Amino acid sequence: RRRRRRAPLLVATPHQSSTADSPTFQQTRPLLNITMLATIGYGVASFVIAFVLAALLGSDGGALSKEFPWQFRLAAACRTPVLMLIVVPLSFIRGKYTLARRRLRRYLRGPGGKAAAIRHAAHVDSISEQLRAWDRGGRKRKLRTARSNWAAMSTKLGSNKEECNQIALGHMNEILDVDEDGLTLTCEPGVTMGELTDELLPLGLMLQSHIEMESITIGGLAMGFGIETNSHKVGLFQESVLEYEFVDSHGRRHSVTKDQPELFYALPWSYGTVGFLTSLKVKLLRTQPYVRVEYLPTSSAAELTSQLQRLAALGEGQAPDFLEATLYDRDNAVIQAGYFDARPSTAAPLNRINVWYKPFYYRHVETALRSGAFQERAAPRPLPLPRLSPSTRPRPVLTRPASPPSAGVDP
Ligand SMILES: Cc1cc2nc3c(=O)[nH]c(=O)nc-3n(C[C@H](O)[C@H](O)[C@H](O)COP(=O)(O)OP(=O)(O)OC[C@H]3O[C@@H](n4cnc5c(N)ncnc54)[C@H](O)[C@@H]3O)c2cc1C
Repeated sequence: RRRRRRAPLLVATPHQSSTADSPTFQQTRPLLNITMLATIGYGVASFVIAFVLAALLGSDGGALSKEFPWQFRLAAACRTPVLMLIVVPLSFIRGKYTLARRRLRRYLRGPGGKAAAIRHAAHVDSISEQLRAWDRGGRKRKLRTARSNWAAMSTKLGSNKEECNQIALGHMNEILDVDEDGLTLTCEPGVTMGELTDELLPLGLMLQSHIEMESITIGGLAMGFGIETNSHKVGLFQESVLEYEFVDSHGRRHSVTKDQPELFYALPWSYGTVGFLTSLKVKLLRTQPYVRVEYLPTSSAAELTSQLQRLAALGEGQAPDFLEATLYDRDNAVIQAGYFDARPSTAAPLNRINVWYKPFYYRHVETALRSGAFQERAAPRPLPLPRLSPSTRPRPVLTRPASPPSAGVDP
């Protein structure tokens, strides 16, 4: 047999092209030319230079004690460039992709109603069918949700789902109903906090327990647990639930309210051991355009505890709507007490949060340790796209202060 010649990596140069009719040339399939190679080379070199510069200027790896193994110190030194050049760009792209996908999905599905109810019934049937099949098959393996570990907000990344019978719930991610007058929301368990913020904030609404991390699902909060900075007033997430709908291990559907207390109170913290949640109805709260935040520094654990207890125990109308603290070392902390604020007054300067050029929020809060207590009004960045489903109420308007805050007060 004749051996096949390998295609060369480089394209023929003009000099070589004079032999274009030679048999060798006709069999080659050029892949790269010199210009492309040079461009790739420049790209790689620029990346390496940026990586090394960021490592030298941005990391504190060199400050680590020599007692740490060199591999650990090297990894610490590479932390800044890895974050800057790899993690942040990738997560930015992924964030934009996720946002576009969920907006498109919402647009294609339309505004809930009967069509959503029909889709939901089909979704529940599909869960029941998966469970009946497992039941008929002799219940050989344990049941788990098919949600990938990396997608969940959990530290149990090592938890192995491979050996289990995985129930696909990924399609259960639709908001079924927003009752703006009755202040309730009904939705499927896979809807994330980010999707709910998109849906509710333009209506001037929020979940009674609206968790700040966008990727957490409402089903994970209901079957696991949820807490927020307004929990001193409204309790844990489970206390906002009015009704659960779930499918048991025989594939039977149940709707559970407080009228069946044994099941109703067994579901939160059950981590899916009672059944697979297929929808839930929760309470909503009305929001205001601004939150006035007071930053109160404390200098000992005892002072922090007593201040938090004092603020949380103030009566209705006086206790902060949101209450949390950031601890900077064993003694020093800053309490953040937030109050809903409808007025565009200039008494407290405006800080429009979530903007890329602002300092990290915890750094901003930390300034209270040096300069003493201060207050400001925080307002969310306006949502970039309009809401897709119709609302029966006029939308709240994010009002601006009469005169813009002076330079330096919008940190
Ligand atoms: C770093 C970190 C910070 C956190 N901060 C907060 C915080 O500020 N506030 C707060 O409230 N929580 C916080 N949490 C906890 C987090 O809210 C819970 O871990 C939550 O359960 C995660 O939601 P998930 O959507 O990722 O759920 P998953 O991990 O997917 O699910 C949680 C549990 O519910 C079960 N489950 C999910 N969906 C269903 C279903 N449809 N049917 C049956 N069972 C189901 C899963 O099997 C699992 O046992 C934090 C967690 C971490 C790791």
